[in-house]
Amino acid sequence: MASDAMDKIASLCKRRGFVFQSSEIYGGINACWDYGPAGVELKRNVKDLWWRALTQLRDDIEGLDSAILMHPKVWHASGHVESFTDPMVDCRMCKARFRADQLDEAVCPTTGRPVLPQCAPHLTEPRAFNLMFKTFMGPVEEASAVVYLRPETAQGIYVNFQNVLGPSRQKVPFGIAQIGKAFRNEISPGNFIFRSREFEQMEMQFFVPPGDASSWFDYWKGQRMEWYREIGIDPGRLRFHEHGPDELAHYAKQAVDIEYEFPFGWKELEGIHNRSDFDLRRHIEHSGKDLSYFDQESNQHFVPHIIETSAGADRTVLTLLVEAYAEEEERTVLRFHPKVAPVKVAVFPLVKRDGMPERARAITTDLRRRFRVFYDEKGAVGRRYRRQDEIGTPFCVTVDSQTLIDDTVTVRERDSMAQTRVSSEGLVAYFRDRLA
Ligand code: ATP
Repeated sequence: MASDAMDKIASLCKRRGFVFQSSEIYGGINACWDYGPAGVELKRNVKDLWWRALTQLRDDIEGLDSAILMHPKVWHASGHVESFTDPMVDCRMCKARFRADQLDEAVCPTTGRPVLPQCAPHLTEPRAFNLMFKTFMGPVEEASAVVYLRPETAQGIYVNFQNVLGPSRQKVPFGIAQIGKAFRNEISPGNFIFRSREFEQMEMQFFVPPGDASSWFDYWKGQRMEWYREIGIDPGRLRFHEHGPDELAHYAKQAVDIEYEFPFGWKELEGIHNRSDFDLRRHIEHSGKDLSYFDQESNQHFVPHIIETSAGADRTVLTLLVEAYAEEEERTVLRFHPKVAPVKVAVFPLVKRDGMPERARAITTDLRRRFRVFYDEKGAVGRRYRRQDEIGTPFCVTVDSQTLIDDTVTVRERDSMAQTRVSSEGLVAYFRDRLA
């Protein structure tokens, strides 16, 4: 069932230009994905909505775009060189590798059957596998030239804490937000874009006085859950998963995941962590720089504690696709919330004559100043509607012979398929109300 649902979504994504396998003409490269015309718009909307909610609608969070390649000492200080590992087991028979903590879900690539229990006798003892990609900086490939592709965007924020604090004139509590690529050499990637080796994170680190960390943790839990609801995800398929003491990462004092009910089970969408003063202390120790903060009101020096909200842009895209996907008797439709839909309005001339294309083009130009609009004049109008349904366009506008008489158009709504006549002059106002 689960793989059937995911196969259907992946096939729609390919057919309608959302997501393609990377380097497909060469047979593809595992766990890397390319976003096509519809996918890039969908993902951009996700990132823009996150950026707007976290930075533009508040005055206590600043933006940052730090480099992917950082000084290797960063990853020693953060603990990643030492402990950013997953336990891995090898199959002595077919040489496949699996995550030891995910054997229950693993499938043998040779037989196509679950790894457990059949392959159990052939599996090695688990050993730690570091997930960071390594490369060399400069022309010489030697140990001193090793650099890492960042496995998370957070460290770029910590090392820039003082740089941002000064020019932004912020005071603790305040946050720094960043969106960017991260790379992990995952042992068992899969479930389409859910777990890949190159992906995008949307991370925000909120610096707080030591005594306030727990209450800010609760605040950010609430804010982030609300954001997923606002972008159209059913609250019934979202839940918190609190980490027990045995699940906590080495840096975390409190941790909670926001999980979504995917066809393959409840899985993490975002992690919210109370990281205490772990990160800034480690960078103070390793860099020798003072990253403490002087609070003028209380006249105190302290190392800020950090509440982190760490979300995946690609996982959010997958969630939106799963949430929106619906098969009806005569059509497949993506019922995206208008906020995230890649195209907001499609405009069609009913036929390619009698001045209809010209009128439809003029309407397109007018609407384009406010919304993302797609113009299409090819093929039967029914087919054009179906195509828009499959990319989740909330409204289609059709210019027909009546338009040439009274300047009204047909507006067809995606979910109900109801058709209404609207004066073309009033279209901007009509959509402004409905696309908010
Ligand atoms: P998981 O347990 O699924 O491996 P994680 O706990 O390692 O995730 P974090 O390090 O907390 O994940 O990363 C924060 C977010 O980044 C995750 O909630 C997820 O949305 C995203 N993310 C992490 N790894 C991947 C990946 N390999 N592919 C796509 N998104 C990812």
